[in-house]
Amino acid sequence: MKTKIHPILKEIAAIFGSHRQEVYLVGGAVRDLIRGEKPQDWDLATSARPEEVIAMFRTSVPRGKVIPTGIKHGTVTVHFKGHALEVTTFRTESDYRDGRHPDQVYFAATIEDDLSRRDFTMNAVALPLDGSEAVDPFGGAADIKKHLIRCVGNPAERFAEDGLRPLRGVRFASQLGFAIDQPTLAAINGALKVTAGVSPERVRDELDKIIGSPKPSIALRLMEETGLLQLILPELAGCRGIDQKGYHHFDVLDHSLLACDYAAKENYPHTVRLAALFHDLGKPSARKPDEDGIWTFHGHEAISAKMAKAILGRLRYPNAVIDETVHLIAEHMFHYEENWSDAAVRRFIIRAGEEHLENLYRLRLSDAYGMAGTEPDKKLLLPLISRVDQIMAGSRAFSLKDLAITGKDLMETGVKPGKTMGIILNELLETVLDDPAQNTREKLLEIAGNLNKRY
Ligand code: ATP
Ligand code: MG
Repeated sequence: MKTKIHPILKEIAAIFGSHRQEVYLVGGAVRDLIRGEKPQDWDLATSARPEEVIAMFRTSVPRGKVIPTGIKHGTVTVHFKGHALEVTTFRTESDYRDGRHPDQVYFAATIEDDLSRRDFTMNAVALPLDGSEAVDPFGGAADIKKHLIRCVGNPAERFAEDGLRPLRGVRFASQLGFAIDQPTLAAINGALKVTAGVSPERVRDELDKIIGSPKPSIALRLMEETGLLQLILPELAGCRGIDQKGYHHFDVLDHSLLACDYAAKENYPHTVRLAALFHDLGKPSARKPDEDGIWTFHGHEAISAKMAKAILGRLRYPNAVIDETVHLIAEHMFHYEENWSDAAVRRFIIRAGEEHLENLYRLRLSDAYGMAGTEPDKKLLLPLISRVDQIMAGSRAFSLKDLAITGKDLMETGVKPGKTMGIILNELLETVLDDPAQNTREKLLEIAGNLNKRY
Protein backbone atom coordinates (compact mmCIF):
# COMPACT_ATOMS: atom_id res chain seq x y z
CA MET A 1 0.00 0.00 0.00
CA LYS A 2 1.29 3.47 -0.87
CA THR A 3 0.07 6.80 0.42
CA LYS A 4 0.67 10.38 -0.60
CA ILE A 5 3.24 12.00 1.65
CA HIS A 6 2.95 15.65 2.71
CA PRO A 7 5.69 17.90 1.23
CA ILE A 8 6.93 18.86 4.72
CA LEU A 9 7.43 15.18 5.54
CA LYS A 10 9.42 14.79 2.32
CA GLU A 11 11.77 17.51 3.52
CA ILE A 12 12.09 15.77 6.87
CA ALA A 13 12.76 12.49 5.06
CA ALA A 14 15.61 14.14 3.13
CA ILE A 15 17.24 15.33 6.37
CA PHE A 16 17.12 11.86 7.95
CA GLY A 17 18.24 10.34 4.64
CA SER A 18 21.33 12.55 4.45
CA HIS A 19 22.30 11.22 7.90
CA ARG A 20 21.63 7.64 6.77
CA GLN A 21 18.84 7.20 9.30
CA GLU A 22 15.48 5.52 8.73
CA VAL A 23 12.31 7.46 9.51
CA TYR A 24 8.64 6.41 9.36
CA LEU A 25 5.24 7.91 9.97
CA VAL A 26 3.48 5.86 12.69
CA GLY A 27 0.45 5.93 15.00
CA GLY A 28 -2.73 7.91 14.50
CA ALA A 29 -1.54 9.72 11.35
CA VAL A 30 -1.16 6.42 9.51
CA ARG A 31 -4.67 5.37 10.58
CA ASP A 32 -6.01 8.66 9.30
CA LEU A 33 -4.20 8.41 5.94
CA ILE A 34 -5.41 4.85 5.33
CA ARG A 35 -8.97 5.93 6.11
CA GLY A 36 -8.57 8.82 3.68
CA GLU A 37 -8.68 11.45 6.42
CA LYS A 38 -6.35 14.33 7.13
CA PRO A 39 -3.95 13.47 9.99
CA GLN A 40 -4.26 15.60 13.17
CA ASP A 41 -0.65 15.27 14.23
CA TRP A 42 2.45 13.43 13.11
CA ASP A 43 4.29 10.80 15.13
CA LEU A 44 7.55 9.60 13.61
CA ALA A 45 9.69 6.56 14.45
CA THR A 46 13.38 6.58 13.62
CA SER A 47 16.58 4.56 13.87
CA ALA A 48 18.37 7.72 15.08
CA ARG A 49 18.99 8.14 18.83
CA PRO A 50 17.41 11.23 20.46
CA GLU A 51 20.82 13.00 20.70
CA GLU A 52 21.36 12.32 17.01
CA VAL A 53 17.96 13.79 16.10
CA ILE A 54 18.77 16.89 18.13
CA ALA A 55 22.18 17.24 16.48
CA MET A 56 20.89 16.59 12.96
CA PHE A 57 18.28 19.35 13.18
CA ARG A 58 20.69 21.75 14.79
CA THR A 59 23.13 21.47 11.88
CA SER A 60 20.84 21.07 8.89
CA VAL A 61 17.95 23.41 9.75
CA PRO A 62 18.95 26.74 11.19
CA ARG A 63 15.35 27.62 11.96
CA GLY A 64 14.44 24.18 13.29
CA LYS A 65 14.07 23.62 17.02
CA VAL A 66 14.16 20.32 18.90
CA ILE A 67 12.69 20.02 22.41
CA PRO A 68 13.57 16.95 24.50
CA THR A 69 9.89 16.45 25.50
CA GLY A 70 10.13 12.81 26.53
CA ILE A 71 13.77 12.05 26.16
CA LYS A 72 13.58 9.35 28.88
CA HIS A 73 11.24 7.45 26.57
CA GLY A 74 13.30 8.25 23.51
CA THR A 75 11.00 11.06 22.30
CA VAL A 76 11.90 14.55 21.12
CA THR A 77 9.64 17.13 19.50
CA VAL A 78 10.92 18.67 16.29
CA HIS A 79 9.51 22.10 15.41
CA PHE A 80 9.87 22.50 11.69
CA LYS A 81 8.33 25.18 9.46
CA GLY A 82 5.31 25.64 11.69
CA HIS A 83 4.77 21.93 12.34
CA ALA A 84 5.50 19.99 15.54
CA LEU A 85 6.53 16.38 15.07
CA GLU A 86 7.00 13.81 17.83
CA VAL A 87 10.05 11.76 16.92
CA THR A 88 10.66 8.56 18.87
CA THR A 89 13.65 6.26 18.49
CA PHE A 90 12.80 2.60 17.69
CA ARG A 91 12.01 0.93 21.03
CA THR A 92 11.23 -2.53 22.31
CA GLU A 93 8.32 -3.48 24.54
CA SER A 94 10.29 -4.55 27.60
CA ASP A 95 9.76 -1.15 29.15
CA TYR A 96 6.17 -2.00 30.14
CA ARG A 97 7.14 -4.79 32.52
CA ASP A 98 5.45 -3.45 35.65
CA GLY A 99 2.12 -3.04 33.84
CA ARG A 100 2.04 0.64 34.77
CA HIS A 101 4.65 2.85 33.19
CA PRO A 102 7.45 2.45 30.79
CA ASP A 103 10.19 2.26 33.46
CA GLN A 104 13.22 1.90 31.29
CA VAL A 105 13.82 2.39 27.59
CA TYR A 106 15.42 -0.25 25.43
CA PHE A 107 16.14 0.90 21.92
CA ALA A 108 15.37 -1.53 19.11
CA ALA A 109 17.37 -2.17 15.98
CA THR A 110 14.57 -2.30 13.40
CA ILE A 111 11.18 -0.80 12.66
CA GLU A 112 9.70 -4.33 12.80
CA ASP A 113 10.90 -4.72 16.41
CA ASP A 114 9.46 -1.31 17.21
CA LEU A 115 6.07 -2.14 15.68
CA SER A 116 5.87 -5.41 17.61
CA ARG A 117 5.76 -3.52 20.96
CA ARG A 118 2.72 -1.51 19.93
CA ASP A 119 -0.76 -2.18 21.28
CA PHE A 120 -3.09 -2.66 18.32
CA THR A 121 -2.48 -3.74 14.73
CA MET A 122 -4.00 -0.47 13.47
CA ASN A 123 -1.30 1.33 15.48
CA ALA A 124 1.50 -0.90 14.22
CA VAL A 125 1.76 0.19 10.59
CA ALA A 126 4.72 2.34 9.52
CA LEU A 127 4.84 4.47 6.38
CA PRO A 128 8.35 5.24 5.10
CA LEU A 129 8.64 8.96 4.45
CA ASP A 130 10.36 8.30 1.13
CA GLY A 131 7.02 7.07 -0.20
CA SER A 132 7.98 3.39 -0.45
CA GLU A 133 5.78 0.45 0.58
CA ALA A 134 4.23 0.44 4.14
CA VAL A 135 5.79 -1.80 6.79
CA ASP A 136 2.78 -3.72 8.06
CA PRO A 137 3.79 -7.00 9.71
CA PHE A 138 0.48 -7.56 11.56
CA GLY A 139 -2.11 -6.79 8.90
CA GLY A 140 -2.94 -3.41 10.42
CA ALA A 141 -3.93 -1.73 7.15
CA ALA A 142 -6.51 -4.46 6.48
CA ASP A 143 -7.87 -4.11 10.04
CA ILE A 144 -8.18 -0.34 9.60
CA LYS A 145 -10.18 -0.92 6.44
CA LYS A 146 -12.34 -3.48 8.28
CA HIS A 147 -12.77 -1.02 11.18
CA LEU A 148 -11.34 -3.57 13.58
CA ILE A 149 -9.34 -3.09 16.79
CA ARG A 150 -7.12 -6.11 17.36
CA CYS A 151 -4.11 -6.63 19.62
CA VAL A 152 -0.69 -7.18 18.13
CA GLY A 153 -0.02 -10.83 19.01
CA ASN A 154 -1.55 -12.40 22.10
CA PRO A 155 -4.12 -10.06 23.70
CA ALA A 156 -3.71 -11.40 27.24
CA GLU A 157 0.07 -10.85 27.06
CA ARG A 158 -0.29 -7.37 25.61
CA PHE A 159 -2.74 -6.34 28.33
CA ALA A 160 -0.57 -7.87 31.06
CA GLU A 161 2.31 -5.62 29.91
CA ASP A 162 0.29 -2.43 30.22
CA GLY A 163 -3.12 -2.27 31.93
CA LEU A 164 -3.96 0.96 30.15
CA ARG A 165 -4.30 -0.82 26.81
CA PRO A 166 -7.83 -2.20 27.46
CA LEU A 167 -8.96 1.36 28.14
CA ARG A 168 -7.18 2.62 25.03
CA GLY A 169 -8.99 -0.09 23.09
CA VAL A 170 -12.49 0.95 24.20
CA ARG A 171 -11.52 4.61 23.78
CA PHE A 172 -10.50 4.01 20.16
CA ALA A 173 -13.82 2.18 19.62
CA SER A 174 -15.66 5.37 20.66
CA GLN A 175 -13.38 7.75 18.78
CA LEU A 176 -13.22 5.82 15.52
CA GLY A 177 -16.50 3.88 15.62
CA PHE A 178 -14.49 0.64 15.18
CA ALA A 179 -15.42 -2.76 16.64
CA ILE A 180 -13.09 -4.64 18.99
CA ASP A 181 -12.05 -8.06 17.69
CA GLN A 182 -13.61 -10.84 19.80
CA PRO A 183 -10.40 -12.40 21.26
CA THR A 184 -9.10 -8.91 22.14
CA LEU A 185 -12.40 -7.99 23.83
CA ALA A 186 -12.51 -11.32 25.66
CA ALA A 187 -9.02 -10.78 27.13
CA ILE A 188 -9.95 -7.50 28.86
CA ASN A 189 -11.72 -9.10 31.80
CA GLY A 190 -8.69 -11.23 32.66
CA ALA A 191 -6.47 -8.12 32.75
CA LEU A 192 -8.56 -6.06 35.19
CA LYS A 193 -6.03 -6.61 37.99
CA VAL A 194 -3.33 -5.03 35.82
CA THR A 195 -5.61 -2.14 34.88
CA ALA A 196 -6.33 -1.61 38.60
CA GLY A 197 -2.66 -0.68 39.02
CA VAL A 198 -2.59 2.00 36.32
CA SER A 199 -2.04 5.55 37.58
CA PRO A 200 -5.24 7.59 38.03
CA GLU A 201 -3.89 10.32 35.75
CA ARG A 202 -3.54 7.93 32.80
CA VAL A 203 -7.05 6.57 33.44
CA ARG A 204 -8.41 10.12 33.63
CA ASP A 205 -6.83 11.04 30.29
CA GLU A 206 -8.55 8.06 28.65
CA LEU A 207 -11.90 8.93 30.28
CA ASP A 208 -11.51 12.46 28.94
CA LYS A 209 -10.88 11.14 25.44
CA ILE A 210 -13.93 8.88 25.77
CA ILE A 211 -16.27 11.69 26.80
CA GLY A 212 -14.64 13.88 24.17
CA SER A 213 -15.50 11.36 21.44
CA PRO A 214 -18.59 11.63 19.22
CA LYS A 215 -20.46 8.85 21.08
CA PRO A 216 -19.06 8.09 24.55
CA SER A 217 -21.62 5.34 25.23
CA ILE A 218 -19.80 3.05 22.79
CA ALA A 219 -16.78 2.90 25.09
CA LEU A 220 -18.80 3.01 28.31
CA ARG A 221 -20.97 0.06 27.24
CA LEU A 222 -17.88 -1.92 26.26
CA MET A 223 -16.46 -1.03 29.67
CA GLU A 224 -19.55 -2.43 31.35
CA GLU A 225 -19.46 -5.58 29.23
CA THR A 226 -15.82 -6.26 30.11
CA GLY A 227 -15.84 -5.23 33.77
CA LEU A 228 -13.80 -2.05 33.25
CA LEU A 229 -16.74 0.12 34.32
CA GLN A 230 -17.18 -1.80 37.59
CA LEU A 231 -13.45 -1.35 38.23
CA ILE A 232 -13.06 2.32 37.34
CA LEU A 233 -16.52 3.79 37.91
CA PRO A 234 -18.33 1.31 40.22
CA GLU A 235 -20.81 4.05 41.20
CA LEU A 236 -21.95 4.33 37.59
CA ALA A 237 -22.02 0.56 37.10
CA GLY A 238 -24.31 0.46 40.18
CA CYS A 239 -26.95 2.43 38.25
CA ARG A 240 -27.69 -0.61 36.07
CA GLY A 241 -31.17 -2.03 36.73
CA ILE A 242 -32.34 0.98 38.76
CA ASP A 243 -35.60 1.48 36.94
CA GLN A 244 -37.53 4.71 37.27
CA LYS A 245 -40.91 3.88 35.82
CA GLY A 246 -43.27 6.78 35.79
CA TYR A 247 -40.57 9.23 34.67
CA HIS A 248 -38.24 7.49 32.26
CA HIS A 249 -38.09 4.75 29.66
CA PHE A 250 -34.63 3.69 30.77
CA ASP A 251 -32.80 2.54 33.87
CA VAL A 252 -30.45 5.06 35.47
CA LEU A 253 -27.33 3.79 33.66
CA ASP A 254 -28.84 3.89 30.17
CA HIS A 255 -30.33 7.29 30.96
CA SER A 256 -26.91 8.62 32.04
CA LEU A 257 -25.19 7.25 28.93
CA LEU A 258 -27.79 8.86 26.67
CA ALA A 259 -27.45 12.19 28.48
CA CYS A 260 -23.67 12.06 28.00
CA ASP A 261 -24.03 11.11 24.31
CA TYR A 262 -26.26 14.13 23.79
CA ALA A 263 -23.75 16.46 25.49
CA ALA A 264 -21.05 15.04 23.20
CA LYS A 265 -23.21 15.27 20.08
CA GLU A 266 -24.01 18.92 20.83
CA ASN A 267 -20.31 19.61 21.46
CA TYR A 268 -21.04 20.84 25.00
CA PRO A 269 -18.06 21.65 27.25
CA HIS A 270 -16.13 18.99 29.15
CA THR A 271 -17.75 19.74 32.54
CA VAL A 272 -21.25 19.41 31.07
CA ARG A 273 -20.33 16.01 29.65
CA LEU A 274 -19.00 14.87 33.03
CA ALA A 275 -22.06 16.24 34.78
CA ALA A 276 -24.38 14.52 32.29
CA LEU A 277 -22.64 11.20 32.96
CA PHE A 278 -22.70 11.56 36.76
CA HIS A 279 -25.83 13.64 37.48
CA ASP A 280 -27.96 10.72 38.68
CA LEU A 281 -25.37 8.63 40.55
CA GLY A 282 -27.28 9.24 43.79
CA LYS A 283 -30.48 7.65 42.51
CA PRO A 284 -29.78 4.07 43.65
CA SER A 285 -29.39 5.22 47.28
CA ALA A 286 -32.11 7.92 47.19
CA ARG A 287 -34.76 5.62 45.71
CA LYS A 288 -37.88 5.12 47.89
CA PRO A 289 -41.42 4.06 46.96
CA ASP A 290 -44.27 6.52 47.64
CA GLU A 291 -47.72 5.43 48.97
CA ASP A 292 -48.72 4.18 45.52
CA GLY A 293 -45.51 2.19 45.17
CA ILE A 294 -44.02 4.57 42.58
CA TRP A 295 -40.29 5.18 42.99
CA THR A 296 -39.20 8.61 44.19
CA PHE A 297 -35.65 9.98 44.23
CA HIS A 298 -35.89 12.97 46.56
CA GLY A 299 -32.56 14.63 47.28
CA HIS A 300 -30.64 12.49 44.81
CA GLU A 301 -28.87 15.52 43.31
CA ALA A 302 -26.98 16.23 46.55
CA ILE A 303 -25.92 12.57 46.81
CA SER A 304 -24.90 12.54 43.12
CA ALA A 305 -22.82 15.70 43.65
CA LYS A 306 -21.01 14.12 46.60
CA MET A 307 -20.31 10.91 44.70
CA ALA A 308 -19.10 12.78 41.61
CA LYS A 309 -16.75 14.80 43.81
CA ALA A 310 -15.24 11.60 45.18
CA ILE A 311 -14.81 10.08 41.71
CA LEU A 312 -13.25 13.18 40.15
CA GLY A 313 -10.97 13.59 43.15
CA ARG A 314 -9.64 10.04 42.98
CA LEU A 315 -9.07 10.43 39.21
CA ARG A 316 -7.02 13.56 39.98
CA TYR A 317 -9.13 16.03 38.02
CA PRO A 318 -8.11 19.67 38.51
CA ASN A 319 -10.09 21.45 41.22
CA ALA A 320 -11.69 23.87 38.76
CA VAL A 321 -13.18 20.93 36.81
CA ILE A 322 -14.36 19.22 40.00
CA ASP A 323 -15.98 22.39 41.37
CA GLU A 324 -17.89 23.24 38.20
CA THR A 325 -19.04 19.66 37.54
CA VAL A 326 -20.18 19.11 41.12
CA HIS A 327 -22.00 22.45 41.15
CA LEU A 328 -23.88 21.64 37.93
CA ILE A 329 -24.93 18.27 39.32
CA ALA A 330 -26.06 19.75 42.65
CA GLU A 331 -28.22 22.34 40.86
CA HIS A 332 -29.62 20.22 38.05
CA MET A 333 -33.09 19.74 39.54
CA PHE A 334 -34.49 23.27 39.15
CA HIS A 335 -38.19 23.41 38.22
CA TYR A 336 -39.29 26.67 36.72
CA GLU A 337 -42.94 27.63 36.75
CA GLU A 338 -44.51 30.69 35.20
CA ASN A 339 -45.87 31.86 38.54
CA TRP A 340 -42.32 32.28 39.94
CA SER A 341 -42.00 35.79 41.39
CA ASP A 342 -39.11 37.98 40.26
CA ALA A 343 -37.56 37.28 43.65
CA ALA A 344 -37.73 33.55 42.94
CA VAL A 345 -36.01 34.06 39.59
CA ARG A 346 -33.33 36.15 41.31
CA ARG A 347 -32.80 33.42 43.90
CA PHE A 348 -32.42 30.89 41.09
CA ILE A 349 -29.78 33.07 39.42
CA ILE A 350 -27.85 33.42 42.67
CA ARG A 351 -27.93 29.70 43.40
CA ALA A 352 -26.91 28.75 39.87
CA GLY A 353 -24.34 31.54 39.51
CA GLU A 354 -24.53 33.72 36.40
CA GLU A 355 -21.47 32.10 34.86
CA HIS A 356 -22.99 28.60 35.17
CA LEU A 357 -26.46 29.31 33.75
CA GLU A 358 -25.62 28.34 30.18
CA ASN A 359 -24.07 25.03 31.26
CA LEU A 360 -27.00 24.30 33.55
CA TYR A 361 -29.37 24.74 30.61
CA ARG A 362 -27.17 22.44 28.53
CA LEU A 363 -27.24 19.83 31.28
CA ARG A 364 -31.02 20.08 31.41
CA LEU A 365 -31.32 19.46 27.65
CA SER A 366 -28.97 16.47 27.95
CA ASP A 367 -31.05 15.13 30.84
CA ALA A 368 -34.22 15.63 28.79
CA TYR A 369 -32.70 13.70 25.87
CA GLY A 370 -31.83 10.88 28.27
CA MET A 371 -35.48 10.46 29.30
CA ALA A 372 -36.69 9.09 25.99
CA GLY A 373 -33.64 9.07 23.76
CA THR A 374 -35.27 11.54 21.41
CA GLU A 375 -34.30 15.10 20.52
CA PRO A 376 -35.42 17.41 23.37
CA ASP A 377 -37.60 20.39 22.56
CA LYS A 378 -35.07 23.24 22.58
CA LYS A 379 -37.97 25.59 23.43
CA LEU A 380 -38.32 23.77 26.75
CA LEU A 381 -36.17 26.31 28.58
CA LEU A 382 -37.24 29.46 26.76
CA PRO A 383 -39.74 30.69 29.38
CA LEU A 384 -37.09 30.47 32.12
CA ILE A 385 -34.33 31.93 29.95
CA SER A 386 -36.43 34.93 28.99
CA ARG A 387 -37.34 35.61 32.63
CA VAL A 388 -33.68 35.33 33.64
CA ASP A 389 -32.58 37.65 30.83
CA GLN A 390 -35.26 40.15 31.77
CA ILE A 391 -34.19 40.20 35.42
CA MET A 392 -30.51 40.45 34.55
CA ALA A 393 -31.14 43.34 32.19
CA GLY A 394 -32.97 45.24 34.94
CA SER A 395 -31.82 46.20 38.41
CA ARG A 396 -29.37 43.68 39.70
CA ALA A 397 -28.72 42.68 43.27
CA PHE A 398 -27.66 39.12 43.21
CA SER A 399 -25.19 38.70 45.99
CA LEU A 400 -23.83 40.48 49.03
CA LYS A 401 -21.29 42.31 46.92
CA ASP A 402 -24.09 43.86 44.86
CA LEU A 403 -25.74 45.48 47.90
CA ALA A 404 -25.63 49.28 47.96
CA ILE A 405 -23.79 49.12 51.31
CA THR A 406 -20.85 47.17 52.67
CA GLY A 407 -19.92 45.64 55.99
CA LYS A 408 -17.75 48.68 56.61
CA ASP A 409 -20.76 50.99 56.26
CA LEU A 410 -22.58 48.85 58.81
CA MET A 411 -19.66 49.01 61.24
CA GLU A 412 -19.71 52.78 61.01
CA THR A 413 -23.37 52.77 62.10
CA GLY A 414 -22.54 50.61 65.10
CA VAL A 415 -23.10 47.04 63.93
CA LYS A 416 -20.50 44.74 65.47
CA PRO A 417 -18.48 42.65 63.04
CA GLY A 418 -19.01 38.90 63.33
CA LYS A 419 -22.16 36.84 63.53
CA THR A 420 -24.64 39.72 63.86
CA MET A 421 -23.11 41.46 60.87
CA GLY A 422 -23.53 38.29 58.77
CA ILE A 423 -27.16 37.89 59.80
CA ILE A 424 -27.96 41.52 59.01
CA LEU A 425 -26.23 41.45 55.63
CA ASN A 426 -28.18 38.34 54.64
CA GLU A 427 -31.47 39.88 55.75
CA LEU A 428 -30.66 42.95 53.64
CA LEU A 429 -29.97 40.72 50.67
CA GLU A 430 -33.30 38.92 51.15
CA THR A 431 -35.05 42.28 51.28
CA VAL A 432 -33.41 43.44 48.06
CA LEU A 433 -34.19 40.16 46.31
CA ASP A 434 -37.86 40.66 47.10
CA ASP A 435 -37.79 44.32 46.16
CA PRO A 436 -34.80 45.70 44.24
CA ALA A 437 -36.06 49.25 44.83
CA GLN A 438 -34.82 48.89 48.43
CA ASN A 439 -31.23 48.65 47.22
CA THR A 440 -30.15 52.20 48.10
CA ARG A 441 -27.70 53.30 50.77
CA GLU A 442 -30.26 55.21 52.85
CA LYS A 443 -32.93 52.51 52.80
CA LEU A 444 -30.50 49.74 53.66
CA LEU A 445 -28.90 51.71 56.50
CA GLU A 446 -32.34 52.41 57.92
CA ILE A 447 -33.34 48.72 57.77
CA ALA A 448 -29.97 47.71 59.22
CA GLY A 449 -30.42 50.16 62.10
CA ASN A 450 -33.75 48.58 62.98
CA LEU A 451 -32.39 45.06 62.70
CA ASN A 452 -29.39 45.97 64.87
CA LYS A 453 -31.71 46.98 67.70
CA ARG A 454 -33.28 43.51 67.59
CA TYR A 455 -30.02 41.55 67.79
P1 ATP B 1 -4.14 9.63 19.04
O1 ATP B 1 -2.88 10.46 19.12
O2 ATP B 1 -5.03 9.95 17.92
O3 ATP B 1 -4.83 9.49 20.35
P2 ATP B 1 -2.29 7.52 18.56
O4 ATP B 1 -2.48 6.12 18.05
O5 ATP B 1 -1.36 8.40 17.80
O6 ATP B 1 -3.72 8.14 18.69
P3 ATP B 1 -0.66 8.02 20.84
O7 ATP B 1 -1.05 7.90 22.28
O8 ATP B 1 -0.27 9.32 20.26
O9 ATP B 1 -1.87 7.36 20.05
O10 ATP B 1 0.53 6.96 20.62
C1 ATP B 1 1.22 6.84 19.40
C2 ATP B 1 1.49 5.38 19.11
O11 ATP B 1 2.28 4.82 20.17
C3 ATP B 1 0.25 4.51 19.06
O12 ATP B 1 -0.33 4.50 17.78
C4 ATP B 1 0.80 3.17 19.44
O13 ATP B 1 1.44 2.56 18.33
C5 ATP B 1 1.85 3.50 20.45
N1 ATP B 1 1.34 3.45 21.83
C6 ATP B 1 0.89 4.49 22.58
N2 ATP B 1 0.53 4.08 23.81
C7 ATP B 1 0.76 2.76 23.84
C8 ATP B 1 0.62 1.75 24.85
N3 ATP B 1 0.12 2.04 26.06
N4 ATP B 1 0.97 0.49 24.51
C9 ATP B 1 1.48 0.20 23.30
N5 ATP B 1 1.64 1.08 22.32
C10 ATP B 1 1.30 2.35 22.58
MG1 MG C 1 -0.71 10.44 18.32
